[in-house]
Amino acid sequence: MKTSEKKRFKNLPIKSKLILILLAMSAATLFISCLIFVINDLKMFKELTVRNFNVLARSIGVNCTASLVFDDPDSAETILNSLKEEYQVQFGVLYDSKGKIFANYKKEKNIGIHSPRLSGEGHRFYKGKGYSGNFDIVRSISFDNEVIGKVFLHVRMSELDILLKNYLLLVVLLFLLTLVVCFVISINLQKLISEPILALAEETKKVSEKGDYSVTVSYEGKDEMGTLYDGFNQMLSQIKKREQELIDIQDNLEDLVKERTKELHEAKDAAETATRAKSQFLANMSHEIRTPLNSIIGYTQLLLKGGRDAPLSKKFKTYMENIQMGGKNLLELINNVLDLAKIEAGRLVVSEGEINLKLLVQGIFHINKAQALLEKLDFTYSIGPGLPETAWSDRTKLNQILMNLVGNAIKFTPEEKKVQLLVAREGTSLVFEVRDEGIGISKDRLRTIFDPFDQVDGSITRRAGGTGLGLSIVKKLVELLDGSIHVESTPGVGSVFCVRLPLREVLTKDTMKNILPNWDDLHFSKDNVVLLVEDNVKNQEMLVELFEHLGLKIQLANNGHLGIEKTLELKPDLVLMDIHMPVMDGLEATKNIRLHPEGNKTPIIAITADIFYDQEQTATEAGFSDFLYKPVDFDKLVPLLLKYLRQDEHPQSKPKTPQALPLLPKELQEKLEGELHSLLKIPVFEPEKVISETDKIRKYCKEYDTPFNPLLEKIEQAVFSGNSKEIPSLVEEAIHGKNINS
Ligand code: ADP
Repeated sequence: MKTSEKKRFKNLPIKSKLILILLAMSAATLFISCLIFVINDLKMFKELTVRNFNVLARSIGVNCTASLVFDDPDSAETILNSLKEEYQVQFGVLYDSKGKIFANYKKEKNIGIHSPRLSGEGHRFYKGKGYSGNFDIVRSISFDNEVIGKVFLHVRMSELDILLKNYLLLVVLLFLLTLVVCFVISINLQKLISEPILALAEETKKVSEKGDYSVTVSYEGKDEMGTLYDGFNQMLSQIKKREQELIDIQDNLEDLVKERTKELHEAKDAAETATRAKSQFLANMSHEIRTPLNSIIGYTQLLLKGGRDAPLSKKFKTYMENIQMGGKNLLELINNVLDLAKIEAGRLVVSEGEINLKLLVQGIFHINKAQALLEKLDFTYSIGPGLPETAWSDRTKLNQILMNLVGNAIKFTPEEKKVQLLVAREGTSLVFEVRDEGIGISKDRLRTIFDPFDQVDGSITRRAGGTGLGLSIVKKLVELLDGSIHVESTPGVGSVFCVRLPLREVLTKDTMKNILPNWDDLHFSKDNVVLLVEDNVKNQEMLVELFEHLGLKIQLANNGHLGIEKTLELKPDLVLMDIHMPVMDGLEATKNIRLHPEGNKTPIIAITADIFYDQEQTATEAGFSDFLYKPVDFDKLVPLLLKYLRQDEHPQSKPKTPQALPLLPKELQEKLEGELHSLLKIPVFEPEKVISETDKIRKYCKEYDTPFNPLLEKIEQAVFSGNSKEIPSLVEEAIHGKNINS
C-alpha cells in the first residue's frame, strides 16, 4: 500500500475498515482455493485423456493386426476411418514393420501428416493453439512375439481449453457472488465490534463537551470491550473525584487569597502609616535635638577659646574637647537620620542644575586632602579623557555621595596606602569611582553593606566616627539621581565603590561659541519680539546670550503669571515657556494665554527638564505649539526659530573674522592684580567662590589681549590642589607678562 492509500485507509471509519478487511480476506481465500481446484482438475483431465487415447491406439493396433498379416491396406484404412468418431484426433497412421505408411486417416483433407516426434512407444505433449496444446501417441502391433507395425495418433486437446474457459467463468461468478455474500455478512458482523466502540466514542465526546463526568456507559458482554467500558467508567469516576477536589481547593484558595490580600493591604497601610509616623517623628526629633545641640557645640567652642584673663587648665580643655567631639558625632548622626527620614518620606527632591565636573571632583579632593595627609595616605584624583566640562545633575546630592565614599575610603585605609577618586565618561554614563587599599569588606557583609546601621569595625568607628547610615543614604541618593551603585572588595586588599549616573551634557558658553559661527547665515528681523518665561537665572543668561548672537533682544518674565501679563502686553512673535516655575507653572500659564483672543495664536514653545513620557502629551493638551527638553539643544531650537520668527530680507553680512582685542590698559592692571591675589585668600574647599573669582578674571581675557588664558587654567589647578608654592609664581607670570601694556 502506498503511503497516501494507507493514510486514506486510516481515516476511514472503523465500520468501513472492518468491511474492507472481511471482504479482502474472503476474496483472497476464494481466489487461492479456486486456483488449487482448477490446476488440480486440469491435470487430472489431461492424464485421463492420454489414458483414453492410449486404449484407443491399442485397440486400433489389435484390429489392424490381420490387415498387416494379410497385407490388406483397405481393411486397415476402414478401421482407421472409425477415428472419425473421435473429433480430437487430427490424423492416424498405420506403419508396417519396415516403417512405411501402410494406411492413414485424416480428419480434414488439407491436414499435413508428420512422423511421430518420439522414438519407440509412448506419448508426448507439445505446444499448439490454446492452453492445452497437442500430443502424439505411438503403440506397437505384435504378432507371434514379433513387431509387425505401429499405430500413430495425433490428438488436439481443444476440449481442455473449453473446460478452462468454463472454469474461469465459474470462478469469476463465484468470486462476485462470494463478495456480495461477504459484504452482507460483514455489514452485519462489523456491528458487533464497531457499534460498542462508536457508542463509547460518542459518550466520550459528550463528556468532553459538557464536562459532565457523572455519566456511566454500559455494555452487556464480558469480552475485551466489556473491560474497555469498565476502564472508561473507572476513569470517569476518578476524574470526577479529582475535579471535586480541585473545586474544593480552588474555593479554599480564593478565600485564602482574599484573606491574605486583605491582610496584606492592612499590613501595608499599617506599615505606611508607621513609616510616615516614624519619619515624621524622626524629622521632628532631629529638629528638636539639633537646636539644643547647636547651643552645646557653640558654647563648647566659646568655652574652648577661653577668656583672655583666665587660660584654661589642660584637664578642662580635654574635657571640653571630648564634649565637643561627642556633640559633633551626635550632630552627624542626627543629620544622617534626618536625611534618611526625608528620603524615606519621599520629601527629598532633586534640584538639578549645571555642574562643572572637574571643579566638583577637585573640590571633593581638596576638602578631604587635609584628613588624608593626617592619616599619611597617598590620596589622588583623576579625570578621565573625554569627560564633558559640565553636566546636568544635583550638585548637593552628588557632593554628599562622593564625600561619604571618599570619607569612608580614608577612614578604612591604613597609613602609606592609596586612595583614589576617579571620574570618567562611559558612553552615556557618568562614572565615579572611589578606590582604596584599605581593610576591605568580607563577602557576606557586602550583601548588607547598604543597609542602615551596618557597621563592622567598632574600633575604627570609635576613632574616626560614623553612624552606619552613610552608605544607605548614598544608595538612596544615587537612586534618586536615576543611577546605580555597586561595590567590589577583597578583605585586606581594598575596595572599589562605583557610582554610575546618566550623563546629561550641558552646552556651556564655550561650546556654544564653537557652534555659533555656523549660524552666521541666520538673519532674523530685529522686529521679532521673543519672550522667555523662566525662573532660573542661569538659563535666562544663557538664552539671552544666544539670542543676542542671533541679533535678537529677548524679553524676560520670571514666572507663569508674569508670562501671561507680558504676552498680552507685548504680543510677542514667540514665547519660550519653562514648565516648572514658582507662582504659576508653564502649563497653567499657557492654558490661560490660549483663553485670550490676543494670545490664541502666539507660538509657545515648552521647555522642561522633566523627562517623563507623558510630558509632551500634557504640553500639547495645554496648548503648547512645540516642545524642547532642557538643556536646550540649539540644533533643535534653531529650526523652531526659523519656523516662527521673521527673517531679514536684505541682511547685512556680519564680520566673520574676530576683531583683534585691545591691549590691557595700565589702569586695569592693578585691579587684575587684586583679583589674582584674592584667589589666594579663598578657602580652598569653597570651589564655587573659586569659580566666581576665575570667571571675573576671564572677563578681562575676553575684553583684552592678555597672555592670561593658558595660565588661568594652571592657576585654578594650583588653587585646587593646594599647591601654594606654585600659585604666586604663576600669578607673577600672569601679571608681569610681556603682553601687558606697561
Ligand atoms: P559609617 O558612617 O559607619 O562609615 P557607612 O554606612 O558609611 O557608615 O559604612 C558602613 C560600614 O561599611 C562601615 O562601618 C564599614 O564597616 C564598611 N565600609 C564602608 N566603606 C568602606 C571601605 N571603603 N572599606 C572598608 N569598609 C567600609
